[in-house]
Amino acid sequence: MRNLYTGEPHQLALEALRHADNRIPIPQASTQQAYLESQILAHLNSGGWWWAHPLGISAIRPSDRWPVVLLDSHTELSGGAAHPMSDFAIVQLLPYAEPGIQVHAIPGVRVAATRGADLHLAMIGTDARVILRATKGTNWRQELSERRESLLDGKLHPLWEEPGLTHYEREHEAEAPLTMRAERNLAWLGSGLFRRIALFHTSSSAYSTRSWIQSDEWRIELDTATGVSLDHNGFLARLCDRSWGIPLKIERHNCTCHLQFPPNRPLSRQCTYYLAHTHDDSGELQIRFRSERAFEDDGVRATLESVGAEQSWLNRVLPATEASEDAEASR
Ligand SMILES: [Zn+2]
Repeated sequence: MRNLYTGEPHQLALEALRHADNRIPIPQASTQQAYLESQILAHLNSGGWWWAHPLGISAIRPSDRWPVVLLDSHTELSGGAAHPMSDFAIVQLLPYAEPGIQVHAIPGVRVAATRGADLHLAMIGTDARVILRATKGTNWRQELSERRESLLDGKLHPLWEEPGLTHYEREHEAEAPLTMRAERNLAWLGSGLFRRIALFHTSSSAYSTRSWIQSDEWRIELDTATGVSLDHNGFLARLCDRSWGIPLKIERHNCTCHLQFPPNRPLSRQCTYYLAHTHDDSGELQIRFRSERAFEDDGVRATLESVGAEQSWLNRVLPATEASEDAEASR
């Protein structure tokens, strides 16, 4: 059961067996730890990128003191070139200052250690830590030094090795106190989703997953191909499961499943669900289950194949249509 939520058996099978805790429910993170995890989840997301697994994470091992996150090998921007996931993570997560303008990525994040293919990320002034495990052969140290060079060339300041919170980061936090508070209030939710990241791969019918924070709301947009059943009830049941899920309840929803649409017309429809914590009122989760034309012509399936998506998953979320088979044959 747990593997549906964490993705462990495929990638972390040996460790899981050693620890033999595959039946232990997913522990909740402490406040500081939850904040770091939720920020990582929020920043790994920016629309337009494709991964073998939603958001580029194939599995998470949440039970140790510090969660270990397994990254996909690479990512691809729509219509663009392949990009190592390790470098993508560095760019999205490690803070740097554009003097006088703003701090990019996650203020306060520091590199605590590099050990082989593992990058230890810490939140300054706390004992929160997340271990990013890249594919074998990844040289974090070299990638970090290349990133540092390229930032300095552009007159930008890398901050991930600074011993204390820099004045750039303090100013950044002081300028947007409401945003900071809202993001801290959403930490339990972001961490809850982060620790169950595999649900988006194992239990969702979507071929595309996006997520972002909008004021005090966490939003997730899941695109399911038209012709594939939009099973939001199954996904929501697992997400809200009492033993394995996040303590969430559905507050309100707008379901369009019963509406009739004319046949043979590309359609786009959406069922929207609003969820809140079962017993306190900090933050809301909005999930948009969208039924979308799967853009066969744009080669989404080919892109997902090129970044290493499993065939069994692709056959479920993007079953080959006659049109796409013709396109494949004529290539
Ligand atoms: Zn519906």
